[in-house]
Amino acid sequence: MTTEARAVQTVTGRVRPEDLGRTLIHEHVLIGFPGWNLDAFAPKFVRADAMARAIDQMHELRDLGVGTFVDPCPMDLGRDVEFLAELGQRSGMQIVCTTGAYFEAEGITHTFRHLPVEEITAIYIKEITEGVGETGIRAGAVKIATGAHQISDYERKLVTAGARAAKETGVPLISHTQEASCGHEQIDLVTGEGVEPHRLVVGHSDGVDDPDYHRSLAERGAFVGFDRFGITLILPDEVRVKNVVALAKSGHTRNILLSHDSIVCWQGRPVPFANRYEDVLAMLPEWRPTSIPKKIVPQLRAGGLTEADIETILVDNPRRFLAGA
Ligand SMILES: [Zn+2]
Repeated sequence: MTTEARAVQTVTGRVRPEDLGRTLIHEHVLIGFPGWNLDAFAPKFVRADAMARAIDQMHELRDLGVGTFVDPCPMDLGRDVEFLAELGQRSGMQIVCTTGAYFEAEGITHTFRHLPVEEITAIYIKEITEGVGETGIRAGAVKIATGAHQISDYERKLVTAGARAAKETGVPLISHTQEASCGHEQIDLVTGEGVEPHRLVVGHSDGVDDPDYHRSLAERGAFVGFDRFGITLILPDEVRVKNVVALAKSGHTRNILLSHDSIVCWQGRPVPFANRYEDVLAMLPEWRPTSIPKKIVPQLRAGGLTEADIETILVDNPRRFLAGA
């Protein structure tokens, strides 16, 4: 299944791997943390305004040469695949959505806590092969997520279900890690289900200034997600750039994926950072999905990466990851 390149499933249909182009592997169009709709004082969510903002953002990205936008929104964080499909149609952006739920502390856990791993696996496979609900809109990857420094029983069950669904369908796995911990445990769980390590990106690994950790993930064959560019409350971007360059120079250019984990629109209050979207933008001025093409690529060049390295990281790596070649 994973030895030959497959078409990539987007919310608007299948795309040939060679047509993906520059790809952002971990961004969000729309996020609503569980309970956002219970907050009587949250900013009102106006769908048409959100859509207009998202279209503008996709047009700007396309002008910067981005062809594909992967939105690994967990099922329980306000995922809205019809919003994504409409956005894809109206903006021309190729958008990939995911199946899979969030980590225990921040997800909606009641139902999946009680369902056995076999049923959760079947739900994920249904969303990949038939579509989400009645929409026919199919997931192109699986989201898995673990908490800080240890994996709970709930999370282990969902990661196992995700790995089994990925193994069955051939789609890759995009992970969330908390405090850049448990990357190796994620690799252990996923490969333990028979999935090859290069079908997993260990997400948010750029949250620690630890080149040995990054290299150790790459040496096992996984993709290393430097996917929070612009979230300078965690680490300055200069540190991320330094660590990307270090990993590339240690011979692992083919294991690097870049993104921002940016959020174009919020449902409700963008807790816990701020009350309003504008407050978040003011607090994190570089946290835009355009930052990599505009600001980070020149810094990677200045750090010694060649044009071929940058092409590998922005085009070839996401294509190999998504298409499984
Ligand atoms: Zn994310």
